[in-house]
Amino acid sequence: MNNLLETPIEYLKGVGPQRGDLLRKEMGIFKYGDLINLYPNRYIDRTRYYKINELQDTTAEVQVVGKIIHLKTVEFAKGKSRLVATFTDDTGQMELVWFQGQKWIRESVKLNIPYVVFGKTNSFNTMFSMAHPEMELLTEHEQNLRSAMQPVYPSTEKLVQRGITNKAVNKMMMQLFTETQALFTETLPGYILEELKLIPKNAALFNIHFPKSQELLLKAQFRLKFEELFFIQLQLITKNLIRKHKIKGHPFDKVGVNFTEFYNHHLPFDLTGAQKKVLREIRNDLGSNAQMNRLLQGDVGSGKTIVALMSMLLALDNGFQSCLMAPTEILANQHFYGITELAKPLNLNIKLLTGSTKTKERNIIHEELENGSLDILIGTHALLEDKVQFKNLGFAIIDEQHRFGVEQRSKLWKKNDIPPHILVMTATPIPRTLAMSLYGDLDISIIDELPPGRKPIQTVHRYDSNRLKVWRFLKDEIAKGRQIYIVYPLIQESEKMDYKDLMDGYEGISRDFPLPQYAVSIVHGKMKAAEKDAEMKRFSEGKTNIMVATTVIEVGVNVPNASVMIIESAERFGLSQLHQLRGRVGRGAEQSYCILMTGQKLSHDSKTRMETMVRTNDGFEIAEVDLKLRGPGDIMGKQQSGVLNLQIADLVKDKEILLLARHHALKLLKEDASMEKPEHQTLRRVFIELSKKKNIWNYIS
Ligand code: ADP
Ligand code: MG
Repeated sequence: MNNLLETPIEYLKGVGPQRGDLLRKEMGIFKYGDLINLYPNRYIDRTRYYKINELQDTTAEVQVVGKIIHLKTVEFAKGKSRLVATFTDDTGQMELVWFQGQKWIRESVKLNIPYVVFGKTNSFNTMFSMAHPEMELLTEHEQNLRSAMQPVYPSTEKLVQRGITNKAVNKMMMQLFTETQALFTETLPGYILEELKLIPKNAALFNIHFPKSQELLLKAQFRLKFEELFFIQLQLITKNLIRKHKIKGHPFDKVGVNFTEFYNHHLPFDLTGAQKKVLREIRNDLGSNAQMNRLLQGDVGSGKTIVALMSMLLALDNGFQSCLMAPTEILANQHFYGITELAKPLNLNIKLLTGSTKTKERNIIHEELENGSLDILIGTHALLEDKVQFKNLGFAIIDEQHRFGVEQRSKLWKKNDIPPHILVMTATPIPRTLAMSLYGDLDISIIDELPPGRKPIQTVHRYDSNRLKVWRFLKDEIAKGRQIYIVYPLIQESEKMDYKDLMDGYEGISRDFPLPQYAVSIVHGKMKAAEKDAEMKRFSEGKTNIMVATTVIEVGVNVPNASVMIIESAERFGLSQLHQLRGRVGRGAEQSYCILMTGQKLSHDSKTRMETMVRTNDGFEIAEVDLKLRGPGDIMGKQQSGVLNLQIADLVKDKEILLLARHHALKLLKEDASMEKPEHQTLRRVFIELSKKKNIWNYIS
């Protein structure tokens, strides 16, 4: 049976070499098995017929019963024509249109006989039209109607143009079931089917393509989603187990002088309970013989920096170097200053390596890394260059912010024989389902508590037309001694225009907040680093009241006296960026505010983003909304979309199924880690096959 599923697709009756080629190129369907796994996007109720006067401008397909009363060829450009049919029912008229295959349609279509036409409608000048409809005589249609729910398969324009319509795919699918007699191997162990009341694989595949009822369709979907997520979780968890058993790590069993000294004498504040908990988790990992691979999540301002530093001190105390890699230069800078500041009393050798590090400094770094006198290296991708060789890298922190690909992580990994312990930090929280799918092979630590004494930031949304009122509010705040950020978007594609907006904004603000009563700073990407630093310094020392900036300040500054964040054109920012920006205020004892300025006209998504920001300060909740709005692929970036290319499950909608799949995968592997029990034989085989095909977690190997 499994061999049959390996049959090249062109051998399926009705496919042949040409169509086979198209299916391969357009859909990646090479074999019978690929076709059977082409699951419908949705189902249409083929017992629902629309009247022509019920049609509306939507993108959904509809089904209309009527007669063709007239056919004509319309030339719309030299040598180019379309065939247009006038189609009527008792409520009105519409047009059917063909560009391809006109001759054949003209010859085969029958006038004045009831047809069922099916397709998407467009409206031109109040007249609806349907291009390249699927058509059937009403009598045939009634005979063929097997199921009320007709599957709609994913497709491409090219496929449809070349005649592989949805109807054609339907036929192929039926043919496939006939040829294979629908004998598909059960992939899940019987006891799981029983416990979760899952329908067998055969029934699931049949009903996903030809649902016998709504109820069976739901069961089929549930079973196939579970299966998909279950095998992914098996892979992730297996990786984690293998690592823990097989991959040696440096055991950091000493708590030495640096850590103790820092902990006892130089902590600038009491650690929160959550910070302590996370540090304990990290220390446990580091003290074992296995390599640590841990994800550290925490909201903006939850205090990840100090956790990062103290973990690196543990490495240092055990005679190892550490590094911290950030996705951007600004972030790397920020980490460098933050960590240097915290670690000042310890007299460590901490250096920064980025694209703008001068050759001379670079050479010193290379040398100190190799002779072991450099304790901590902080930087960007520059850390991955071949020239960067550590004497003994024992601990690597990756501040990921979703931007590093799998290959890059593994590059860091290969810098030493025994891999360093790895802590992946995320700048913004990741929804639980995503974390479980993308980082399911990592252990997860969460800082779920903000440092004490923070007043929740009050966020409001204001339209540009209310600017005067906002300005008055700012003047009141400045009168109280507070400072203010005003941030403008800077998005690469339209950098010039953004820059102009920023400058115009700056001029306006300077006019509205004139010297000598007010002082306004400006910082943007085109300024020299020294200028930027000087301007930032003026602001942080309280010499200016307002800081006008681009998103460079998203991560760049920490000025506790700044209590208002104005975000201009807030509709142009994504949720996580808005949340990051807001995190720049609320760091002092005063009540802080975030004001989102937008134009009057907002898209639905923009509105949702503003409403979400106004409603909550919780980064995890914001991340969930972001996931719903943008989908997993966009959030995590292309590099990691492989993991998210799910066939049927949906990380947004199928959270419960994911939790269930993870639970059962964990349980199974706990009892039978190498899947050797008789009841796991098939499972094991499928698992191995799948791992060969989709080994997307290669950074562990
Ligand atoms: P994150 O990187 O998680 O966004 P940071 O590490 O930059 O957060 O910390 C945010 C701010 O909170 C910093 O000013 C830091 O000094 C302060 N902070 C961190 N932990 C504590 C704590 N336990 N008590 C008081 N303040 C803290
Ligand atoms: Mg930080």
